[in-house]
Amino acid sequence: MPSYQSYLKRIKSEIQEITPQQVKELLDRPDGTRIIDIREENEYVQGSIPGASWIPRGFLESRIEDAVPRRDAPIVLYCAGGNRSALSARALHELGYTNVKSMSGGWGVWKRSGYPFHVPVVLSADQQVRYSRHTMLPEIGEAGQIKLLESKVLCLGAGGLGSPSALYMAAAGIGTIGMVDDDVVDSSNLQRQILHSTERVGMAKVDSAEKTLRGLNPDVTVNKHPVRMTSENVFEVLAGYDVVVDGADNFPSRYLLNDACLKMGIPVVHSSIFRFEGQITVFPAQGQPCYRCLYPEPPPPDEAPSCQEAGVLGVLPGIMGVLQATEAIKLLVGIGEPLSGRLLIYDALRTKFRELKLRRDPKCPTCGDGVDRSKIELIDYVQFCTR
Ligand SMILES: [Zn+2]
Repeated sequence: MPSYQSYLKRIKSEIQEITPQQVKELLDRPDGTRIIDIREENEYVQGSIPGASWIPRGFLESRIEDAVPRRDAPIVLYCAGGNRSALSARALHELGYTNVKSMSGGWGVWKRSGYPFHVPVVLSADQQVRYSRHTMLPEIGEAGQIKLLESKVLCLGAGGLGSPSALYMAAAGIGTIGMVDDDVVDSSNLQRQILHSTERVGMAKVDSAEKTLRGLNPDVTVNKHPVRMTSENVFEVLAGYDVVVDGADNFPSRYLLNDACLKMGIPVVHSSIFRFEGQITVFPAQGQPCYRCLYPEPPPPDEAPSCQEAGVLGVLPGIMGVLQATEAIKLLVGIGEPLSGRLLIYDALRTKFRELKLRRDPKCPTCGDGVDRSKIELIDYVQFCTR
C-alpha cells in the first residue's frame, strides 16, 4: 500500500506541470488555454486568477464536458498548493483530456509572486435558489447572473412600458434599476401601468416603483430620478448606466436620449406604442443605426399624434415592455442576437409581428459619415405631447 506522499510523487511524475510564471505569460499572451480553478468556494472567494473558470474539485469530472467540450483543448488546473490539481489532471487524463497541466505551487505561489488576481463575486445561498432557473441555463449560468447583479439599467418612464420592463428586470436580478419619472400615479394609469396600484394614486411614480420592485426582489437597488430629462440634467441622469430602456412617451425625450446616449456610448432599447400597435428596436452603443436615422427630426407639433387623446390597449405596453426587458438582459449577459438594425412591429389586433430592416443613414445628423459625436449639441425640443 503506497503512502499518500509516494502516491502523489508518482502522479506528479506522470502528469505535466506548469509554473505560475508560465501561467502568467499565458495571461499576457493568451493562446486559448483554459485556466480552471478547482478550489473550494471559501478559497475561491478570497481571490482567483483573472479569466480563470471555477469548477470545484468535487464537480470537476461532472462539469468539465460542458465547460471544455474539446478533449484536445489546452487546460491548466490550479488549486491552493499544486497537489489537488495534480490529482485532478490525472483524473481528466482518464476522461480523455490530452493536454492538461497542473500549476505547480498553486495559488499560494501565484499570490506570493505578486501576480494579478481578482476577488470574484459569488451568489449567496439565497441567490442560488432565487436565480436557479437562470443559472441552470448554460447561456447564462452563475457568471451571467453575476453580470446581471452587477448591471445598471435606466428605465426612462415608470409608465406603461417602464412597468413591465422594470418588473421583469428586477425579477431577473438586475442589480441597479434607475427610474426616471416626474409624475404621480393617476387612476387612469392603472389600466396598464402595473408597477402602481389603486392605493398609490397620488404617490410619486418613482416611489411607487421602488416599493414594487424592492418588494419583488430585495437584491435590487432602485435609483430614483423624479425629474423630466432635459439637456441640463441628461448626462447626470445617464451617468454610470450600462443600458437604457426607453419607455418615453414623447418626442423631445427620445431625441434627447438618442443624442446623449450616442455621445456617451450607451445602448438604448427603444419602444413606442400607439392604439393597438407597438414598435421595438435596439440602438447599439456605437449607434448605427440610431433614432435619427429613422426619424431625423421631430414632426411639427400640429402633426404629432396627440398622446393625450390616443387610446392604447392596456396589455400592449405589457408585451412591448417585456420584449424590451428581454433585449436589455441579452445585451447585459452578451447572448443571442440583439434587435439592432431591425424594427419589430407588433399588431395586436391581427396578432402579427413584422420586421423591417433599419439601415444607418450616411446623412444622419448624429451618426452619419463624418459626424464628430463630441460636437453633437443637445436640443430641448418644445414639449408638444406630455403624456
Ligand atoms: Zn443615426
